Amino acid sequence: MKEKDEKKLSWKEVCRLNGRGFRIIYKRYPKLVLSRFVPMVWDVLTPYISIYLSARIIGELAGTRDVGRLRELVLITLCVEAFLALGKALLTKWKNYVNSTLFLMMDQFYVDKLLGMDFIDIDDSKMHELYYKIQQFHSGGNWGIPRLLKIFEELVAALFTIVGGIVLTVSLFTSRVPEGAYTVLNHPLFLLVVLVVMFGTIYLAPALITKADRFWVKNSDKRMEGNRLFCFKLDFMAYKTDLAADVRIYRQERFMKKYSADKTGPFYSNGLFARYAARMGGFYNASSAAVSVAFTGVVYAFVCLKAWAGAFAIGEVTQYIASITKVSTGVSMLVRVVGDLRNNVPFLKENFRFLDIPNTMYQGSLTVEKRKDCNYEVEFKDVSFRYPGSDVWALRNINMKFRIGKRLAVVGRNGSGKTTFIKLLCRLYDPTEGEILLNGINIRKYNYLDYMSIFSVVFQDFKLFAFSLGQNVAAGVDYDKERAETCLIKAGFGERLAMMPEGTETYLYRDFCDNGVDISGGEAQKIAIARALYKDSPFIVLDEPTAALDPVAEAEIYSKFGEIVEDKTAIYISHRLSSCRFCDDILVFDEGRIVQQGSHDRLVADGGGKYYELWNAQAQYYT
Ligand code: ADP
Repeated sequence: MKEKDEKKLSWKEVCRLNGRGFRIIYKRYPKLVLSRFVPMVWDVLTPYISIYLSARIIGELAGTRDVGRLRELVLITLCVEAFLALGKALLTKWKNYVNSTLFLMMDQFYVDKLLGMDFIDIDDSKMHELYYKIQQFHSGGNWGIPRLLKIFEELVAALFTIVGGIVLTVSLFTSRVPEGAYTVLNHPLFLLVVLVVMFGTIYLAPALITKADRFWVKNSDKRMEGNRLFCFKLDFMAYKTDLAADVRIYRQERFMKKYSADKTGPFYSNGLFARYAARMGGFYNASSAAVSVAFTGVVYAFVCLKAWAGAFAIGEVTQYIASITKVSTGVSMLVRVVGDLRNNVPFLKENFRFLDIPNTMYQGSLTVEKRKDCNYEVEFKDVSFRYPGSDVWALRNINMKFRIGKRLAVVGRNGSGKTTFIKLLCRLYDPTEGEILLNGINIRKYNYLDYMSIFSVVFQDFKLFAFSLGQNVAAGVDYDKERAETCLIKAGFGERLAMMPEGTETYLYRDFCDNGVDISGGEAQKIAIARALYKDSPFIVLDEPTAALDPVAEAEIYSKFGEIVEDKTAIYISHRLSSCRFCDDILVFDEGRIVQQGSHDRLVADGGGKYYELWNAQAQYYT
């Protein structure tokens, strides 16, 4: 944030943004906020009880020294202290329990937003940049919404410290020195001096720290850059196994040496942050500590003088010094918190920019009728599509109707629009022009999740998780074992399943389970196909489903394709035209348009067509 903008920031805006952030946390996690509030109030107020009681004991020791009274005071002190310690322990335990998943809770706002976001935004690199930035704010200083918990806690601590301290300090100024040489100490001027020094300290000490912090806020972009390089270096060298082989073969650590050698990088010994810590940053922090000590000196002098002059007994000296110091600490904490509220604003703005990304995709309310006969007819009517920010048509004037229960192959060169066509079919994007109809009704009018439920898709870049095989197939925690096994066998995974130590209960990968199994790319592809079968939707879409399979497994899948897809409408994207022959119909894409449609035999007979050209280009490898 530029200095000019920062100056323009009104307090109303500061309160509005912080208030909004706080409401977001409180609405979702009221218990979390309470678990920060109650123990903090307990922590802040209970020392005053101790201060008060020990002042009474010292007073008794320095005064009448009544043994009975002393015994009584010590007993009360012991009981009260034991109760306070027990209360503190219980509250801390509760707080730790509620806060044990704090990171997850704070992450949840963003995860929910991502899950509910239109796919068009998920696909947007600017959104990724913003999300990454927010993650960096969180990990580097906990700025943004998560910071508000700390700010809230400190605000509560500051206010209660001030109130408690004032209650125990009032009598310092009201108790009068008896007539004599020191009556001058009764003059209100002394109260003024203490207050002036206190407010001077209170203003200066935290202001100096806030000034030191402001440097970090202003340079957050540089810090982010430093973090990125730093993480990149660690990931690169140390643990990203998917990079490790490349790094070793090409000796790519040499990239990083360039950055390590540059000692002026943000996080290096001669970098921006180290230089600041050694110079102005260090100066501000040290000056802040020194200013606070000066105030304590003035308080000591005033309280001791008044006690010396006989305004109160010796026991009260400890009480006044402790409580007035606490008032000062409380007020300086308050100033610091207020500074933090302001410093947090640029980070909050970025948080809200992310959380406020609107859902622009129209969400209809029609339900998709559940039918056993799979009679769902989808039609593209003059559909054209451009990716956001692009002026090139990825799809142009697409007109076609899916034949229910038939197998359709989609072929074409890279970049011809095949995947985009599928993404539009599944309503990950809406057409820029034209419309897609389901049983004669625009798909926008259907409830989004309902519409999605009629598709099972195996994307090329599908992902499996380190859960059990059965859970992966069912895409859920609970699953029907028999059904999962049938789907796996249909997808050609039967033999491997028989070798699995715990059948469908076997864990994939070793992230969560030492007995987990590693699987090959081809095996993963079969599991992904089984997952699509388990969902049992009327449409099944397979995007290059056999790319990672060996020729035997591939032949096996093709021979059983009819059995696999049963009476579903199947859409099959492939580069290998030989594998499209078993489909009823073939769509040929070129530069975003459907240039041909028909059976393999008909298309291959058209010597001037695109299909013939593609077929011949591949056929030479088979002859
Ligand atoms: P295919 O699946 O046939 O290889 P795609 O449907 O992936 O082709 O791509 C069609 C066109 O759309 C290509 O020109 C590609 O560069 C472009 N494209 C694909 N994805 C995006 C995207 N997320 N943003 C912008 N352009 C894209």
